Amino acid sequence: MPETMTVEQARELVFERVSVLPSEEVPLLEALGRVLASDASSDIDVAPFDNSAMDGFAVRASDVAGASEDAPVTLDVIAHIGAGDDVAGITVGPAQAARIMTGAAMPAGADSVVMVEYTRPVEGDGSVGSRVAFLRAPIVGEHVRRRGEEVRAGDVVIGAGDVLGPAAIGLLAATGNASVAVHRRPRVAIISTGSELVEVDQAPGPGKIRNSNSYSIAAQVIAAGGVPVRYPIVPDEIAATRTAFERAADECDFIVTSGGVSVGDFDYVKPVLEELGELTFCKVMMRPGNPQTLGSIRGVPFFGLPGNPTSTYVGFEIFVRPALRLMQGFKHLDRPMTKAVLGHDVKKKQDRRYYLRGRVESGPGGEYIATLSGSQSSALLTAAHRGNCLVVLPEGEGFFEAGTPVACMRLDIEEGTP
Ligand code: AMP
Ligand code: MG
Repeated sequence: MPETMTVEQARELVFERVSVLPSEEVPLLEALGRVLASDASSDIDVAPFDNSAMDGFAVRASDVAGASEDAPVTLDVIAHIGAGDDVAGITVGPAQAARIMTGAAMPAGADSVVMVEYTRPVEGDGSVGSRVAFLRAPIVGEHVRRRGEEVRAGDVVIGAGDVLGPAAIGLLAATGNASVAVHRRPRVAIISTGSELVEVDQAPGPGKIRNSNSYSIAAQVIAAGGVPVRYPIVPDEIAATRTAFERAADECDFIVTSGGVSVGDFDYVKPVLEELGELTFCKVMMRPGNPQTLGSIRGVPFFGLPGNPTSTYVGFEIFVRPALRLMQGFKHLDRPMTKAVLGHDVKKKQDRRYYLRGRVESGPGGEYIATLSGSQSSALLTAAHRGNCLVVLPEGEGFFEAGTPVACMRLDIEEGTP
């Protein structure tokens, strides 16, 4: 195991550890935002029948040929067809028209629709028995929506691998897919280690702090499409750590821990991981959060995040979120990067790559400007809350002056967005 590795090498190893989860059949609305696992086809033609795209009159175009304001053509209205009406038995013959509403089935004989705005009743009010003047000549097929225009019965309407947005949900509904097969959401065990931790509804006593990481990680799991399973706090003891890890490996698809991966005297995550499974790496050349840890227990992928809240947060974004998305079948695993210029000077004191919590916004000239959104202490989360990106400063020490070009990893834009 290399002592340290680059973020890219570490991510590759994370991706090797996980695989796409099997599919499950879910009610259509529960598929929103998820990845379709098998092709969905249509049980009918959509549209199911030729229908009118306008409120107006269904006519035979040849009957109205040459009609204009100055030389209107007058036809007899023989039917009044609303959306949902059965038109079997209605035939529009020569010199006849059927009053028709948007979405109503086209009657036999008619081949086009003239909008009501281009007609005028000559006798009656335009309903059955009236005579109506047409002020415009339609072309054949005008304002008629064809049967099967969207998809034919039996054809694939949405292919496996597509992410289902609201439009896809609408297409699946129109084509009779009341439930669909999507890749399963990973159940993610969240285990906070630390004898200093108390639950959020408790007032911390002397030397104690609240277990905030359990919540931020759970929120990140939900945002990534996973199902968080929060376990009780694990004190810094070998036996308790072992019991918690074994239980999580039995119950979940992925294990995330916080704390206990550093060089502290009571950091037991790594030894217990080595005892129960395997440790792949435990250090990545980045800041915040150098001791990022990957392994597995009985085949269940395991990611040990550092305990400092911002190291936890950044480590999750860079390693755990893409892994959880891969497991759900998403193809795009990288957040969009925005090229920006620094809005102020930044001093970089260490060689490791920095992921600074910042905001990227468009400046007056249309260029993007990146600024840090608060204290960069890895114990403090406010800058992450106020920011929308991680400002990436490459390896090497140095003084980055205002105006220096930087890349910003967007945490506010979904992967795969161009
Ligand atoms: P550790 O990596 O266990 O040494 O923890 C590093 C720092 O993160 C320490 O200051 C811990 O108190 C803090 N920390 C660890 N776990 C949590 C947690 N679940 N929530 C908030 N802070 C934590
Ligand atoms: Mg600890």
